[in-house]
Amino acid sequence: MDIAFTLDDLPLWPQSDPPAGVTAAGIVADIRRALAAQGVAGVYAFCNSWPLARGPGYARILDDWLADGHHVGNHTHSHPHLPEVSAAAFIADIDAGSQALAPWLDRAPRRLFRHPLCHWGETQAKLAAVNAHLTAERYTAVDVTSFSYEWTFNRAWLAAREAGDRRTEAWVCDAFLTFAPAQLRHDHAAAAAWFGTPVPSIALGHNVAFFAVMAQDYLAALRSAGARFVPLADALDGPVQAATGSVVSAAFRVIQQKLALAAGHPIPQIAPDHKETFNRITALAAGRSD
Ligand SMILES: [Zn+2]
Repeated sequence: MDIAFTLDDLPLWPQSDPPAGVTAAGIVADIRRALAAQGVAGVYAFCNSWPLARGPGYARILDDWLADGHHVGNHTHSHPHLPEVSAAAFIADIDAGSQALAPWLDRAPRRLFRHPLCHWGETQAKLAAVNAHLTAERYTAVDVTSFSYEWTFNRAWLAAREAGDRRTEAWVCDAFLTFAPAQLRHDHAAAAAWFGTPVPSIALGHNVAFFAVMAQDYLAALRSAGARFVPLADALDGPVQAATGSVVSAAFRVIQQKLALAAGHPIPQIAPDHKETFNRITALAAGRSD
């Protein structure tokens, strides 16, 4: 399984702050250490520029990311969800991101963009307007073929920690290391079936506290499951790329699931053998809203 790993929402998880005792810089430093330890190089982080006005520490997070040999792509300024805003407002937010992120974007080998929540546009008019703007701005839009749902595990983990429930906290960590490789295998097979040929997976992580703690074991678990980490460029010239931004969709789903939904043949979101684990994680996470 070839897998291009990407990271979303640097320098700070959208409109939220890390839990007490944890900082955005600390989370990203842990993830950088994990990537270095596992030999995963040249990772694109899709960034929001809104935190940059908070203070110089946020720009330093991006400087340090590039200093490790990783790259930055645009993920808009303020992380608007396209179904909730007009095309014009979304486009203005892309441009605000382009401007504020220019010092880092301009040093990347490719000019890449990722839609917040992978929303391409829920009407033909919005889809066309955003696609045309991305083309005019020389962006390549990058979607995702596999989620590990670490943001849901993060909420479950935080809830267990807040409750002082060490046993559940440990279970959430163990469950993630079983779930994530299984979900990657599920998505990898589903993408190959949908596109009719094996394709490199495009996976992602987020800079949340749980992922910082788990990143090294997560990457090792994927390797043990047969993953080979490849540059994102390897995933940008095949059928996945040709299909990116190709259908009207308001679904927060990976690309083959969005395409299958649009075609009227939905495919399972979660690896069937691990649905029960995911349901328990979702229930544990339900107590938290961030
Ligand atoms: Zn995002």
